[in-house]
Amino acid sequence: MIRTRFAPSPTGFLHIGGARTALFSWAFARRHGGQFILRIEDTDLERSTQASVDAILDSMRWLGIDWDEGPAFQMQRLPRYRAVADQLIAGGHAYPCWASREELDTMRETQRAKGEKPRYDGRWRPERAMADGRVAPSDRAPVIRFRTPDHGTVGWNDLVKGPIEFPNAELDDLVILRADGVPTYNFGVVVDDLDMQMTHVIRGDDHVNNTPRQIHIFNALGAALPLFGHVPMILGADGERLSKRHGAVSVTQYRDEGYLPEALNNYLARLGWSHGDEEVFSMAQFIEWFDLQHVSRSPARFDTEKLDWLNQHYIQRADDTRLAHLVAPLLLAMQIDSAAGPKLSAVVALLKDRATTIQHLAQAATLFYVEPSMDQQQRVTHLNQTVRPALLALRTELAALAHWDRATLSAAIKKVLAETKLKMPQLAMPLRVLLTGREQTPAIDAVLELLGRDVVLSRLDRALAEVISS
Ligand code: GLU
Repeated sequence: MIRTRFAPSPTGFLHIGGARTALFSWAFARRHGGQFILRIEDTDLERSTQASVDAILDSMRWLGIDWDEGPAFQMQRLPRYRAVADQLIAGGHAYPCWASREELDTMRETQRAKGEKPRYDGRWRPERAMADGRVAPSDRAPVIRFRTPDHGTVGWNDLVKGPIEFPNAELDDLVILRADGVPTYNFGVVVDDLDMQMTHVIRGDDHVNNTPRQIHIFNALGAALPLFGHVPMILGADGERLSKRHGAVSVTQYRDEGYLPEALNNYLARLGWSHGDEEVFSMAQFIEWFDLQHVSRSPARFDTEKLDWLNQHYIQRADDTRLAHLVAPLLLAMQIDSAAGPKLSAVVALLKDRATTIQHLAQAATLFYVEPSMDQQQRVTHLNQTVRPALLALRTELAALAHWDRATLSAAIKKVLAETKLKMPQLAMPLRVLLTGREQTPAIDAVLELLGRDVVLSRLDRALAEVISS
């Protein structure tokens, strides 16, 4: 059974890059009828927060990336890491090291001065410590270091990048357990990937340099290796690594800016992976198509315009009631009570074709709930002598209509146009401005229908009264 995982560190929101890694790992498991496990790597005690855990879980739920096991928290597994470290010590693969920070600093400075690459020199390897007559101090606990092979190479066939190999001489004896018993990333990840029976480790390629160290630990434990696939990172439009400078980078921020989860998912799926020319597809379709061979080896560039285009696509196709539920709280935040106007689902139905985000949709919807006011300049421009008689005629027509629907309203407008010899824009524009305060609205008959007879007539009356009295 294929088992993959997503293992975020809860030191911030769920970043777009993290979400994409999660999506790929999840889709891979789902594609093969496997399992997807969520693990929280919370060993950075200073930077890990509950708020981040909550934000990560919220974001995953919102995107619909569901997990079969977890979340497992590393900090709840400390005894297990200690036990595995002891096992490695017993097998001669790890050893306690008492080197103090000052000592390590001096070591590195000396190496630098000699033009060497700074690295731990193995002074507490048991045979060396013994030969050098080093005695374990009793006043402090040691860290545990992994004994990296001195010679040879370590490599793997990366599922995305192909064969990768490192000379062991480049790797020093890394700390696997800190003095306080908290594992370092490279150790915790191996123990967990092993215990959680991971078959595939799919993660960002910022971890490529860690993989050789992890492979050594797997080997020392006599464990079979999982397969590794490292996904290239995401760059901003300027080619720099995607960061806050580029705008929204967290999933929650995209949600709050009015993106739909299906749009973000679809967008992220195509970021560094492709299936022919397919651009728009559902998650079910993505799962069916997803493979690691088609993950690009080079970094993907974030393209906000494309995301907006996808979001618009999904908004156009979204259910009106759902959109109304999303828009209502945004209106409320603008102190607008949508209950006191036309039905919100009818309003969004009319507006959704042109909205890029839910925020835009809410902004556009305000025209149906806010009393417009015209300034003097607008009155002079739009309510001129030619138009006034037509508006009066229209008022009379509208007041007498037996039905209030688009077709009837459109017929009434055409009748007035014929009588007054005006062209559609000559009447529609002033009507727009006086009814909504805007020059751009959906089709005028649709606007009239939604506003309703009472509102339309009273706004017409007020505007006409204002011109006459000014
Ligand atoms: N906690 C690591 C991170 O957030 C996980 C890396 C991995 O998947 O092994 O980058």
